[in-house]
Amino acid sequence: MNARGEILDLDRVVEHVIAGQELARDVARSLLNYPDQRLQDLLRATLKVRERSFGRRVKICMLNNAQSGICPEDCGYCSQSKISRADIPVYKLKSVGALVEGARQAVDSGARRYCVVCSMRGPTDAVVEHLGEACERVRAQFPALEICLSLGLMSESQARALKHGGAGWVNHNLNTSRRFYPKICTTHTYDDRVRTVENVRKAGLSTCCGGILGMGEGDDDVLDLAYATRRLRIDSVPINFLHPIAGTPLGQMSALTPQKCLKAACVFRLLNPTSEIRAAGGRELNLGVRQSEIFNAVNSIFVNGYLTTPGLGYAQTLALIERAGFEPEPQNL
Ligand code: SF4
Repeated sequence: MNARGEILDLDRVVEHVIAGQELARDVARSLLNYPDQRLQDLLRATLKVRERSFGRRVKICMLNNAQSGICPEDCGYCSQSKISRADIPVYKLKSVGALVEGARQAVDSGARRYCVVCSMRGPTDAVVEHLGEACERVRAQFPALEICLSLGLMSESQARALKHGGAGWVNHNLNTSRRFYPKICTTHTYDDRVRTVENVRKAGLSTCCGGILGMGEGDDDVLDLAYATRRLRIDSVPINFLHPIAGTPLGQMSALTPQKCLKAACVFRLLNPTSEIRAAGGRELNLGVRQSEIFNAVNSIFVNGYLTTPGLGYAQTLALIERAGFEPEPQNL
């Protein structure tokens, strides 16, 4: 419904998006608040846009938490922050051999993309060298496996070194709007994050950048984030749905409704029609039995859980994809 209480013409919305035009903010807001009883119409319309770039394929990704629980930052949603009291594994950076072994496990789990994540403010040059070597060895063994690194704040020269090693993507999420950012983190700023995304692009790497919904933000914050990913021309947009973790400041937040998650995913797709969009952490918890409906908007998904929370394994994920009438993207190994 728009501001005048009229139901939006979804065919016109789709035409507008396919023509490469940006949705007006009041239209995007109406989509985010689309009536629950018409959600299937919105999902069908979004699927038309999704199919133009990605058909019915779903890219499977797998995470490797390469350094856990020792971050000096204070992100309120994160079990690995310095203020978290969550009961999670704590360890320093994994060896190059362990990172290569993680790549083999990702390949065995059907993954097309291997996402290596380190809990840190940003990498030292020694860490960049270590991960560059890991990328080189992974590329030598699994040339078709896409490698994405998530190492916090990063300079352009560090991003260039990682590209040289063989990384293809660097993940750094904006997480929420500039306005809401100080409510979830005080040790770095939204603009610090934007700078890292720009450094990654300038270095010639693909950008992976999205956010987390369900942290107490309002619709305007969700919309700001979705428009920011469009205007930064992000290549790959992960949408996380908060999985509240005991011992973190956001540990008591309530889950989102599946309907809210699905509508938000549609808005991200309609604002980023040709970008990869990934349903990331909290998918299982927040969407429950409606997980498969999100494939109408997203073209990518994780298997085998997240950094410190569990998730569906490969066989269950494959069943979910196929039952919904989609197919996994071939690994091309
Ligand atoms: S910078 Fe990353 S690892 Fe560190 S607290 Fe924030 S989200 Fe967690």
